[in-house]
Amino acid sequence: MSTDVAGVRITGLRKRYGDTVALAGLDLVARPGEILGIAGPNGAGKSTMVKILAGEVRWDEGEILVDGEPWSSDFGSDRVAVVHQETLLFPNLTVGENVVAGWENDGWRWPRAGDEHHALFDELGILRLRNVPLGELGLAVQQRTEMARALVRDARVMLFDEPNSALTPDESREFFRLAHQLADAGRVVMLISHRLQELATHSDRVAVIMDGRCVRVIEGADKTAETIAETLVRGLGTSAAADAEPVVRNGRTIGESTLELVRVTDTRRLFRDLDFSVPKGHVTALIGVEGSGGREILRACAGLRRVHGTVRVNGRAVRQAQLGSYVSYVAADRASSLFSNLSVGENLVIRLDREISRGALGLRTRRMASLAEELRREFHVKSDGIDIGIRSLSGGNQQKVAIAAAVGAKPAVLALEEPTRGVDISSKAEIYEILRRFVADGGAVVLFCTEIPEVYEVADQLHVVYDGRLSQPLAVADFADMEALAKAVASLETHGSVAPAA
Ligand code: ADP
Repeated sequence: MSTDVAGVRITGLRKRYGDTVALAGLDLVARPGEILGIAGPNGAGKSTMVKILAGEVRWDEGEILVDGEPWSSDFGSDRVAVVHQETLLFPNLTVGENVVAGWENDGWRWPRAGDEHHALFDELGILRLRNVPLGELGLAVQQRTEMARALVRDARVMLFDEPNSALTPDESREFFRLAHQLADAGRVVMLISHRLQELATHSDRVAVIMDGRCVRVIEGADKTAETIAETLVRGLGTSAAADAEPVVRNGRTIGESTLELVRVTDTRRLFRDLDFSVPKGHVTALIGVEGSGGREILRACAGLRRVHGTVRVNGRAVRQAQLGSYVSYVAADRASSLFSNLSVGENLVIRLDREISRGALGLRTRRMASLAEELRREFHVKSDGIDIGIRSLSGGNQQKVAIAAAVGAKPAVLALEEPTRGVDISSKAEIYEILRRFVADGGAVVLFCTEIPEVYEVADQLHVVYDGRLSQPLAVADFADMEALAKAVASLETHGSVAPAA
């Protein structure tokens, strides 16, 4: 096999879903031995490409060659392996059973010392876990089991779709180490991610996909998070970087305030004499690094931190203990927003106690069930009814339940910490949609975020939090693109002021 045909070569790939063009003539080459990063906004066609390569959907026109051979459904799922964000394995089967599930009869056996796959499995850290039910193991091990499954089928192409969005930093590092190893062993590795810095660091080249086409492949010295961000926003090259200077118009009045913190001081002194208001009809983001105080200010908005000062809702002072009646809070950590031993339905209505409960345990069953079903539909929670355990849902759907429950309580304000952390892309888009609808209906949303793309996608205005202090509000619409916003935020985080526009 000559090197110019090795790998994956996609030419003129087109795919429509009804009237929607998902892929509009995608050209892409992924070479063995490299990690090809793939960036693109929601709806760009990335998942469609992955599904086509994995043999899950058919394409309309175009050509895909794998090592010079036309892609065919016969080899699709063996040679091309997709490691999903939420693994698609069987939690009640053991690691060993999951590795071979679907082709137990092919005579393959769990590797022993000296066997072909022994070192690989050792590397993946699953050798000793053969008989452990997968459901008892963390997401990182589940993911490595999926990798093992692909490796024993001798997959040539490994596709990772947001692989580390739900992993801890240590697990992420380990993941990237393995991904490099797969590439070094001559496989084609494709990595789809919204985390631009990681794409820049770990990919050999980064393909930017927009509107169903590859608009640019970034490599060499250009391969930086900034260039990727800029390409994403402009859809082309970097020559116009000078235009991207932030144009910041502060002090714009946005709507009347629903929630106001007036000279509020945290009893632990994480912030002092803080004035902050959350306007009706808008999504307001607090963005700051860990330790900036942003998370604590958000919690103070929900009455969850001990503070001195005045908090008003719709102009009236409200005691801290009462704030929860006006502000619904959703934690970043789903485990603390949801009751893991309760059903989807119970989680959806747990906050509606005044409307449907008689005391904490006396939920009116029928009313509860119909409300829960309404919420499930309205918020597109993908679950098999409302009676199943919350834990059986994907992370994204669990988060939708947490947010639906908060919205269902009809608060004046929604206060959310990192609402889409560890959530798959389609749920992410749906969550943003839920928040946009909530403010369109007259509510107010305040978020604590750590990621610029999230702010750029969902917020109307933001404050940068630095050392317990807030910047002036910046209107997201005033920024030409995400990169300009990122620059302004970075400048505020380091200098406490925005560099003036050139
Ligand atoms: P990405 O993964 O980059 O977010 P997708 O491949 O999911 O993008 O989507 C590309 C476009 O195709 C979007 O407009 C999306 O709404 C549409 N699309 C994807 N899957 C389907 C489907 N099963 N039915 C209808 N439209 C779809």
